[in-house]
Amino acid sequence: MRGMYWMLMPNYKKENFLENKNKLPNFFWTGETKMNCLKNAIHNSLDNGYAHHIQRLMITGNFALLTQVHPDEIDAWYLGIYVDAIEWVQLPNTRGMSQFADGGKIATKPYVSSGSYIGKMSNYCDACTYNKAKKFEDDACPFNTLYWNFLEEKQEKLKTNFRMKMMYSVLNKMSNEDRIKIAEKANHIIENIDAY
Ligand code: SF4
Repeated sequence: MRGMYWMLMPNYKKENFLENKNKLPNFFWTGETKMNCLKNAIHNSLDNGYAHHIQRLMITGNFALLTQVHPDEIDAWYLGIYVDAIEWVQLPNTRGMSQFADGGKIATKPYVSSGSYIGKMSNYCDACTYNKAKKFEDDACPFNTLYWNFLEEKQEKLKTNFRMKMMYSVLNKMSNEDRIKIAEKANHIIENIDAY
């Protein structure tokens, strides 16, 4: 990470391969969300200035990428709250590994997952308002809706990535009706993010 930082800066700090533009949800600064995994990971981060690598990568980073937040906003959050965040290590981990904003210089594919992965790796889903098995119903886990919507919206940029082929094969077998429902629900989540 240190070598990549010194080799790729200063342009690395401006990379935004996926052209993400959204704002970071306000609840990243309060932990006030009904999504139990995010609530715990954010409170843990704000209270201790620390979170486990997997909480950073697969919960907060994953959610920010799925909601297509501008990488500048993610960098500012990670740099601002973690006691071990020094730019040479934070920037390649956040912009590269977590947000895939460098188009694959650090990671070979975006670290995105649906709620079922979080359900397998933790006990957060058992006490959550949302249902990790649903994609677009009222109580569907937002990670699921946003995951399929992210793949749909970034298809042109990611479809040739060998490691994404299986996910795109599943997406492209879904009915048009389901894909429309996912897009509508994902837009609602992104536009009303602090209500979720
Ligand atoms: S159901 Fe979804 S939002 Fe709730 S804890 Fe599980 S992954 Fe997080």
